[in-house]
Amino acid sequence: MEKKCVIQQGTIIIIIIIELFSFLGFCHGWGVDGHLIICQIAQAHLNNAAADAVRDLLPAYAENDLSSLCSWADHVKFRYPWSSALHYINTPDDLCTYSYDRDCKDDSGEAGRCVSGAIKNYTSQLLTYGKSATQNQYNLTEALLFLSHFIGDVHQPLHVGFTSDEGGNTIDVHWYSRKTVLHHVWDDNIIETAEEQFYDSNVAEFVDAINQNITGKWSNQVKEWEDCSDNKTTCPDKCASESITAACDWAYKDVTEGSVLKDEYFLSRLPAVNLRLGQAAVRLAATLNRVFRQS
Ligand SMILES: [Zn+2]
Repeated sequence: MEKKCVIQQGTIIIIIIIELFSFLGFCHGWGVDGHLIICQIAQAHLNNAAADAVRDLLPAYAENDLSSLCSWADHVKFRYPWSSALHYINTPDDLCTYSYDRDCKDDSGEAGRCVSGAIKNYTSQLLTYGKSATQNQYNLTEALLFLSHFIGDVHQPLHVGFTSDEGGNTIDVHWYSRKTVLHHVWDDNIIETAEEQFYDSNVAEFVDAINQNITGKWSNQVKEWEDCSDNKTTCPDKCASESITAACDWAYKDVTEGSVLKDEYFLSRLPAVNLRLGQAAVRLAATLNRVFRQS
């Protein structure tokens, strides 16, 4: 019995360590700030029907702040092991293309289990909003939190990366003097360094800067970002194709195992990160606006 107890304690400690690491962003996904920026901007761009539905679906403790739970999907990877494969897409090495039929599957080959498939699934779950809870087979609060997170993830270029390096997770690099992996540079480091250098270490100022671009220099592109062909409610495949293109053009470009990435890489890649955060925010809002307009 004593031995079992020790094992259980060990297991609990391992669980805590894994959850802590996932909280710190050592995983597939924009870091906490990336997701926060996307959800905060998106929530401010909701129409009345979507704003009401989001308020209704968020748990009371979130106090109607979607961004406070935008990284929830990363925190539940241990509780919901099936959800880990839903944060990314592996594409064939060096091809720099994405195809839903070819690439959207998990490690065991099960079709549809990738971030694009997950976005389609949770969007269709949310379209059942308005049915009474007893009629509804879905947990729509979780569907909203997964969808809000995954629309962010599909815009992180290395979430649609090469299979053999796991979207840059196995490429060791230095970010200035710190040892890390390329995937983490794109999840967190570029955003954190931008906050330190340009925004007074203040995420709210970063949010303001992206909002200003949405109403300013990007304003003539916003409609195209929002649109889905064939009047679809959501179109993650377009976002995934853009991501693998950006991964090849910016993330992987000129990086090899052991590269030291500093000012030149940071300053030339930051515009791509800003753009992807802005596009993710606009598309999350557009998707929720379409979902709840139809409900
Ligand atoms: Zn994620």
